[in-house]
Amino acid sequence: MLEGGARMRGLIFRLAFSFFIFLLFFSCQNRPNDYSRLVAFRKKCIEILGTRSGAILAMNPRNGLLLAVINEKLAVQNSTRPGSTFKIVTALALLQNGLVNPADQFVCNGQVEIRGKIYRCWLREGHGEQNLFQAIANSCNAYFFQAGENLSADQLRSTARQFHLGDCTGINLANEDCGRLPDWVSADEKNNFVVGQARALAVTPLQMLRLVSAIANGGIFYRPFYPASLDELKKFRSELIGMAQLSEALRIFVKEGLRQSVAYGTSVGAKLPNMIVAGKTGTSSEYFGMNTDAWFLGFAPFEKPEIAVAVFLENGRGASDAAPLARQILQAYFEWMESK
Ligand SMILES: [Zn+2]
Repeated sequence: MLEGGARMRGLIFRLAFSFFIFLLFFSCQNRPNDYSRLVAFRKKCIEILGTRSGAILAMNPRNGLLLAVINEKLAVQNSTRPGSTFKIVTALALLQNGLVNPADQFVCNGQVEIRGKIYRCWLREGHGEQNLFQAIANSCNAYFFQAGENLSADQLRSTARQFHLGDCTGINLANEDCGRLPDWVSADEKNNFVVGQARALAVTPLQMLRLVSAIANGGIFYRPFYPASLDELKKFRSELIGMAQLSEALRIFVKEGLRQSVAYGTSVGAKLPNMIVAGKTGTSSEYFGMNTDAWFLGFAPFEKPEIAVAVFLENGRGASDAAPLARQILQAYFEWMESK
């Protein structure tokens, strides 16, 4: 009887253990493991991009699996200035170097004078008093110029490097452009650097997607993988590249800024009715000419991110062009997930 009980306990233990392994296996799988359905999502993304010249990227931030890469050339093979999406990096650098507390306020009058020179915010009438969250949400240049006064270009470059900008991601697609960080910047150019407009700063939408994924997922950088067939999807195993050197508390401050940006700031165009979305817009200017390029980086749901997106559009603006496209992509993704 005693032996039978022990055998039963052993059996129960083995069953429980097998069930645990089963759960572990399935929780490690990407949910959209049906390749044909993944293709349907990609087609939807192509439709959303339409005739615009740009790129759409979507990734599972928990493992680095790319769900969509629309227009490889602009998404992976071409780097350009990130504009205000780079304020994510500046905010991280300010926090990492202990230069601001999130509640510290700076006043935006539409412009700010630093060492006798005038630097402009994009909002002519000014944002008034801004703390870190509001400055990320409203993309207030004046906040970043002032908060960044004691931030050196070296410190900003170092944070950008820790977040793998200027680094190849190692994606399984050909001719990746690895982007670049400025080697040296003048005091004047540093003010362009803090708002993502330094002349020598160039990033790919893929690099920025991975960066915002790391904000979403706890600071983890995965090697991005884009499956081109069912076989490749089945063989996919996530590959960890590194962890951000940033405390959890500081990462959460930036994440909160991204939530506020979609709640009331420049990213409202990406808002969904039934889910909290986080994100950041960018409008990067070309140095020769009046054209601007539109950016949006984001993820959802805020509490437990399942998808991160990057939208890049030539000749557009972040708030009015890129953010609404991101909303459509997120909507398509969640409708698709629910219909499974
Ligand atoms: Zn401002």
